[in-house]
Amino acid sequence: MDPLWQWITGEDGVRALSFPFLERLGGVRALFTSRHRGASRLVPVGLNLVAVAGEDPGAVAENRRRALALIGSTPDRAVIAGLVHGREVARVDAPPPPDPHGVRAVPGVDGLVTATPDLTLMVTAADCVPIYLYDPHVPAVGLLHAGWRGTAAGIARVGVERLAAEYGSRPERIWAVIGPAIGPCCYEVDEPVRAAMAAAPGFRPGWLRPGRRPDRWQLDLWQANRDQLVAAGVPVEQIGIAGICTACQRADFFSHRGEGGRTGRQAALIRLVGGRRHAG
Ligand SMILES: [Zn+2]
Repeated sequence: MDPLWQWITGEDGVRALSFPFLERLGGVRALFTSRHRGASRLVPVGLNLVAVAGEDPGAVAENRRRALALIGSTPDRAVIAGLVHGREVARVDAPPPPDPHGVRAVPGVDGLVTATPDLTLMVTAADCVPIYLYDPHVPAVGLLHAGWRGTAAGIARVGVERLAAEYGSRPERIWAVIGPAIGPCCYEVDEPVRAAMAAAPGFRPGWLRPGRRPDRWQLDLWQANRDQLVAAGVPVEQIGIAGICTACQRADFFSHRGEGGRTGRQAALIRLVGGRRHAG
């Protein structure tokens, strides 16, 4: 049995997790970058991929180039979700025009789907849940960003439905990975978030455990998103949870919660490998 994830290292010391759970199916590459090892000025030697406050845009551009090289791609063949903590998922067939920093982003969405070979989808995060979707039959891929708001809005189901609507994917043929994100060990939430989750599609009580403090709960976004994928028709045995908490594993990953907000962003990346024919 292949491991769900494994570390890979690029030429310049850049490290990322790859996902044999998906890649063994053929025709796809999927990575999750770490904080090793970039040109960031905000986070020393960090592979920060977003021009957050205090960061040098030139360093971010260099880091993006390094991260994309690891998946065999380049910035002009990558498209980034704009991220608004919503549930919109966009179909992309080609990279949009670049902004002044060379970023090709689709604004206003938290998810992307494509069937275009060698177009790399990219979602940045520093605790929020990246969800990778792959239908090897079409083939088509999707990539979602699910914080508590996106999870409460049911973005996992929207992603599966979008693959079905755009490419005729059947949920039972979709494989998924729930990537590194803040885990139930570290994700303490307050009453408004608890209430929003309790009203979320497919809510199960197991998503929330009593917290260590009064009126606080520990939220399990990994399980919530897995349950939502299952409810959307994805077989549970085709869903892998990386089980890596970004707040626990800060030596390897950026964590917004774990580092008091002043940190970088890593990225989930997925691309269909060119050269395969449409399988009908
Ligand atoms: Zn943790």
